[in-house]
Formats: sequence, C-alpha cells, structure tokens
Amino acid sequence: MNNIRVRFAPSPTGALHIGGVRTALYNYLLAKKYNGTFILRIEDTDQTRYVDGAEDYIIEALRWCGLIPAEGPGFGGDYGPYRQSDRKEIYEHHASLLIDNGKAYYAFDTPEELNARRELEKEKGNHSFKYDAVTRKEMRNSLSLPADEVSQLLAQKAPYTIRLNVPSNELIRIQDMVRGEVVFQSNELDDKVLLKTDGMPTYHLANIVDDHLMKISHVIRGEEWLPSTAHHVLLYRAFGWEESMPAFAHLPLILKPNGKGKLSKRDGLKLGIPVFPLSWEGDTPEESFPGFREFGFDAGAVVNFMAFLGWNPGTEQEIFSLDELAEAFTVEKIGKAGARFDFDKAQWYNQQYIMATDDRKLAEQVRPWIEGQGYQPSDDYLTTFCHLMKERVTLFSDFWETGYYFFAPVKEYDTKTIRKRWKLEQKDHFIGLAADLQALKDYTPEAVKQCVEAFMEKHELKFGEVLPILRIATSGTTKGPSIFDIMALLGKAEVHQRLTQAFDLFDTFVKEQ
Ligand code: GLU
Repeated sequence: MNNIRVRFAPSPTGALHIGGVRTALYNYLLAKKYNGTFILRIEDTDQTRYVDGAEDYIIEALRWCGLIPAEGPGFGGDYGPYRQSDRKEIYEHHASLLIDNGKAYYAFDTPEELNARRELEKEKGNHSFKYDAVTRKEMRNSLSLPADEVSQLLAQKAPYTIRLNVPSNELIRIQDMVRGEVVFQSNELDDKVLLKTDGMPTYHLANIVDDHLMKISHVIRGEEWLPSTAHHVLLYRAFGWEESMPAFAHLPLILKPNGKGKLSKRDGLKLGIPVFPLSWEGDTPEESFPGFREFGFDAGAVVNFMAFLGWNPGTEQEIFSLDELAEAFTVEKIGKAGARFDFDKAQWYNQQYIMATDDRKLAEQVRPWIEGQGYQPSDDYLTTFCHLMKERVTLFSDFWETGYYFFAPVKEYDTKTIRKRWKLEQKDHFIGLAADLQALKDYTPEAVKQCVEAFMEKHELKFGEVLPILRIATSGTTKGPSIFDIMALLGKAEVHQRLTQAFDLFDTFVKEQ
C-alpha cells in the first residue's frame, strides 16, 4: 500500500484512556508498516469540553509509548495547522461551499424554539425530536422560509447554525475493514449541525474537512464512531469527495476485566488498577487516575499488551517490539468482538519485558524508582541488583518493594522463622562465622559460599539451620535471590554490621516468646 496517511484525532477533554492509546497505536502501526505518515490532530472545537493540560498529557502519553507523530502540533508537517481551533476559517469556508451547492442550509431556530419543539414531541409521547427531512419543513430555516425572509435574517445578522441537508431515501453503504459492509438508511439520520452559532464547526464537519485536506487514507477509530460514519459519507458526497474518501476501520470495544460491559475510567479506580497510560491529576480524587507508567510498567510491555486488545498476529508469538508489531500488523486481523482488559495479562507482559531486558538497560529504568526513595547506588551496584532481581519481579515498583534491603537497613525481620530456628546456644558459632566472613579477601558469592559451607561442616549444621538465619539477618526475609549473591553485593562491611546486629536481636526475639 502506498501513501498511507493516518491520523490520531483525540479531543483534549481529559486524560487519554487506554482505548484511545490503542487507537493511536493501530494507526501508528499501519503507517509504520507501509512507510506511511502518522499524524496527530487535536480536535478541540468543543470549547465547553476543553480541559487544560489534556493536550500535553496526550503528547506525553504518545511519546512514552514511542508513538511519535510525523506531523502534528509541535511536530511540523505540510498540512497544518493541526489543532482544529486554529482552522476556524477553513471550516467556515467549507460550510459556505455546502450552502452554495444546496447540500447544507441555514437554520435560524433559537435554542428556546428547539427546546419547545422537543418538549412538544415528549408530550406527544415521541421518544425524541429529530431535525430531519420531515420536520425541517416545520422549522425556521433557509429551506422552509421564503427566500426574501432568509436574506433579511442574514442581513440582520440573525444567529444561525448550518445544518447538513440529509437526502431522503438513500442507502449509505460503508465497507468497514473490520466489520465488512454496514448499511445505513438516510431517513434514519438527522440533519446534523455542521457549523455552530459561534462559527465553530462541529466534530463532523471539522473531521471530514480535515481528513480530506490532510489526505487521510485510512480512518482507524473506536467503534463508538461507527454511527457517525453515515453522516461522514454523506458529507464526502456533499463535497464531491467520495472518490478520495478514506477507508474506515472501527475498532472493537475494550471490555471490563470481568468481560461484562465497556471498560470505563472508573473501573481503574474501583479495581485499583491503571486504565490510563500515565497518571492524571484531576481537581478531585474521583477525577484523578493512576497510570501504567507510575504503576511500574515498561512502555514496551504496555504497547505489546495494547496491541493484543483486539488484534492478534494469528501465530503463537506474544512478545513483540514496536517494530515487530508494525511488521506483523494488518487491519484484517483486527477482531470484531470486544477485547477483555485483562490486567493479569498486562502484568505478565511486563514480567516478560523485565526478564528480557539487558541488566544495564534495566538498571537505567529502575534507577528512578530507587532514587525516588532517596538512594543513589552506583551503576555497577544497580546493574548487579537488577540481575539478581529481574526474575522475581513483575513491576518496576517491585524492585524497591521486595529488594529495598539492598539499599536500606532491614526494616522488618521474619520473627516467626527466627523463633523456630535460632538456637541461643549457637550464637557464639554464628559470631564466629561473621568473623570468618569478615576475614575473607575476595568477597565473591563463591567465596562466601565456601566459607559458610566450611562453617556448616565444622559445626555439623545443615543448610536449613544456617541459610534462613543468614537470609533473615541480612534481608529480613527468607525470600529473594541466592543468599550468597545478596551478601556479596551488600559487601563485607555491611554484611558484618547486619549479622552482628541481627544476632543480638534474634536472642531477644527468642527470649520474648
Ligand atoms: N475527536 C474524536 C475523538 O475524540 C475523533 C474520532 C475520529 O477519529 O474520527 O475520538
């Protein structure tokens, strides 16, 4: 495929939910696969829903995921401006083209008149009022009013909206790349407002004009936009652009973790899991959401996880880099059925990513998590730490959670195990072991191991009688990497200090019971 131009067109109305990032990802993948262009367009024409900081959030989220637009606000490109609020004249001009060719009309109905009409329909027991080919005749617009009255209203600068003149009795067929043929009947559709009283376009007009002017080849977006597509096709026809209309692909819904219903931003709060790429600080706690990044996820793992929410390569392979995803991606393999947001699976991906990451690179990623706790280990120390821990963690946050004792003093000892294993009469032996360890020249895992084994032999002790003691004395717990590795990394002086301090404490634990 040639000249692929796709756009991600979010409205900056708040944080970008994981479904939005998935839409961006699929667009990006299609562009990347065919050497096309991935465009970011900010659809901010609805000023009432505009939220400060949302655009920055969107861009930061895209950057974090590695989905860098080739064109967009702040990214350059020949088809700008890429923020719809900067394109007002373009939409006005295009709305007037449709007035001129009769595909749109002026509607002078005031909000009060429209409300009164809605109320009337309600009283009659009708579900809702639709401004369409039938009812427009009874409303105040340039199709129903005499021409001189229309001219007069315009001359008086009476407020108006511009509405699409939806034709009667037309079938609108869409070949959706995911769903196949979808057919709409034009009689079902209302005469959508294209230009509002304040001269701002609605989503429909701005979206179609921009997709056309920006030479968009494929529109990949969420399923919730499928019904709007009927109006969009009519708009392409109205402008005479049907020949160059983009192909459409509507993505399946993302479902709650239990598979029941659409995933909402509230589900994250309810379940204590992220459904946003980055944290979002709203005005209230109910409007603030945790992000995958802050939870301790690797961006690559999140991208990999998102790719599989509604798509799969048709093979057994599950681990893909962004480039590999682009290679494997095809719109035809996107499913129709809703995709369940399985947080366990997201964690599994993260685990796979951590295990597969080179120790040094991992250390760079883990560093902020440790520095955030007030510790500044050397690169070598952190690299070995990551090497020891990487098979035992799921999230970046786990490195500190389960391995804090590599940086900070032990904060809690497994007293239960100590009470079972610590023999007061053996304390002197253990103090002797601490001294032997202190005398080692090379403080390597092997040397420490040999020293401990010699000690066990000398006193006829078994592993189970010694290793848990050393583990708990140095790390507080019996879990974690090999005790010899832990000790070697902590270093001779630190281990000595921890052992001697712990052996005294162990006495008190045992005596307390
Ligand atoms: N601005 C719309 C949104 O917020 C874009 C929908 C589309 O891609 O056409 O999702």
